[in-house]
Amino acid sequence: MLADSHCHLDEFEDAAAQVKKALEKGVVEIVSNSVDLKSMERNLELARRFENVKCALGLHPSNILQMNLEEIERGLEFIEKNIKNCIAVGETGLDFKHAKTTEEKEKQKRIFIRHIEIANKYKKPIVVHSRMARRECVELLEEYSAQKVLMHWFVASDKLLAKVTNLGYFITIGPSVMFSKHMGEFVRKVPLQNLLLETDAPVRYNGKVAEPCWIEKIAETVAECLRIDIKLLECKLEKNFSKLFYA
Ligand SMILES: [Zn+2]
Repeated sequence: MLADSHCHLDEFEDAAAQVKKALEKGVVEIVSNSVDLKSMERNLELARRFENVKCALGLHPSNILQMNLEEIERGLEFIEKNIKNCIAVGETGLDFKHAKTTEEKEKQKRIFIRHIEIANKYKKPIVVHSRMARRECVELLEEYSAQKVLMHWFVASDKLLAKVTNLGYFITIGPSVMFSKHMGEFVRKVPLQNLLLETDAPVRYNGKVAEPCWIEKIAETVAECLRIDIKLLECKLEKNFSKLFYA
C-alpha cells in the first residue's frame, strides 16, 4: 500500500482528477493538510467526498503571521469542533524563513504549542513544518510531550535525526529524493521504522507541479537508495502509516 502522508489536495483546482490519478498508481491514502480556516473547510469537504482522502486540520506557521488573534482563536476552535472528522492536527510548527522578528517567532511558538496541546488532548498525531527551525520545533514537541509526531519534509544533522527517531517521531521523504543526491544519502540514514513518504503537492519541483501520484516514483527511488525490494518497502511504509495515523 502506498500513501501520500502530506499534501494539500485542496489547493488543486480538480482534486477529483488528482485522487483518480493517485489511485491508478496505487496511492490509496492521501492526507490533505490545512493551512488556514478556508483550507480546513475545503479539506473536510474532500475527506467527506473521497473515501481515501483524510484531512489534517491546522494553521500553518506562515499563514498565522497574516492572521490577527481573533482569527487564530476561531481557527483553533474550528479544529477542536471538527476533531472527530480529521486524522491529524496540522500543518503546524515554526517557519523562521518567514518569521523574521522575535515577535513573529514568539507568535509562531505560542500557536504551535496550542496545536500540540490540542493533539495531546484528543490523542491525534501532529504534522510539523520546521523550516529553518528544526531544533526549536523538536525542543517544543519534547517540552510539551507530543506523542505521535510527523516531521514533514525533514532533513537534519545526524545528531538531531538520532534524537527525533529515538523519540519515535516519523519523518517524511518527498520528491527531492528524486532530484538530489544529498537526499538519497540522507534517506539511508533514516531508520526504516520512522520513514513515510509525501509529495507536499502542489508544491513545485524542477518547474513541475508535484501530484500525489508521484508517490509511486518516490517509493521506487527510495527502494533503490535503500537497495531493498519495493514490495518490502511498501509493507514497512504501510505499517508505519497505520502506527502513526490509526493506532
Ligand atoms: Zn505542506
